[in-house]
Amino acid sequence: MTELPHFQRLALIGLGLIGSSIARACKSASLVGEVVGYARSAETRVAAERLGFVDRTTETAAEAVAGADCIILCSPVGTYKALGAEIAPALEAGAVLSDVGSVKGCVLRDLQPVIPEGVHLVPGHPLAGTEHSGPEAGFAELFSGRYVILTPPEGADLDAVDRLGGFWQAMGAMVEIMAADRHDKVLAITSHLPHLIAFTIVGTAVDLAEDIKGDVIRFAASGFRDFTRIAASDPVMWRDVFLNNKDATLEIIQRFNEDLTALQRAIRRGQGDVLEHRFAETRAIRRGVIEAKQDDMPAPPAETDEQP
Ligand code: NAP
Repeated sequence: MTELPHFQRLALIGLGLIGSSIARACKSASLVGEVVGYARSAETRVAAERLGFVDRTTETAAEAVAGADCIILCSPVGTYKALGAEIAPALEAGAVLSDVGSVKGCVLRDLQPVIPEGVHLVPGHPLAGTEHSGPEAGFAELFSGRYVILTPPEGADLDAVDRLGGFWQAMGAMVEIMAADRHDKVLAITSHLPHLIAFTIVGTAVDLAEDIKGDVIRFAASGFRDFTRIAASDPVMWRDVFLNNKDATLEIIQRFNEDLTALQRAIRRGQGDVLEHRFAETRAIRRGVIEAKQDDMPAPPAETDEQP
């Protein structure tokens, strides 16, 4: 069993849903010596101090990482390049530099060239989240029973990978190691395409004529409701996901279009057997998801805006 604290000083860059959930999990189980936080706006930094999930905040990202032995970027992936350039001179040798971004190839592309010798880059992605954003939205149990995928580059320091993995396990997560490009292909189908479909369906509803739109909202429970929840996710985060996982998402959209066209043809031709066969196959996938205990997300406790 790893001794506490896992790290003496954890620096979190970005204090929204994911950053504040990590901070809350650390506080509730004393996983680190000190949590230092930085977010772009003063408003978020003030909220983080008021909510008490950080020990202190700083006015720049570089100040936050100074003296930290673990740094986790918890901002949209499109911010990493500029943040990497800013924090690089302040990173201490031996520190573990990680992130929580939903795309992984771009992390190596944007951070590897700038980080100094002796700093261990171990990108990560917790497969946990909600459609809510901001420092109030986080909760300590978010990662409990969820996978966290670490994508260390070739030749990464194994001790750093172990330490970071142990830290996530202490937050209740199950840790998997994967190559970044494989991660991006898998997530393109399991997360990125479903979000794109939700954005599209809800967007189509937005464009409907006013008279029918009212009834779409009223009768949303018939399936549309779940799409509206997914489509309420943070626009900036999702913009950055698609811009940074271009190849894998374009490939999966192409396949999806082909499969959709096949179903469209079956409907037009009245081929009930084709439809029924396909739907029976997809039903089996659902059973597999339930058996893997990945069918729901931990809900925030009733009073998430209290002290963690
Ligand atoms: P969020 O709630 O919107 O929080 C984002 C945080 O990043 C905010 O504190 C924001 O500061 C800060 N930020 C934005 N631009 C910044 C910059 N240039 N410099 C410093 N801080 C900056 O987002 P989130 O859901 O926590 O997502 C954060 C990361 O987690 C993303 O990379 C996302 O891909 C990944 N992720 C998200 C989910 C999910 O379900 N949401 C799941 C897994 C992974 P302000 O508040 O001041 O704007």
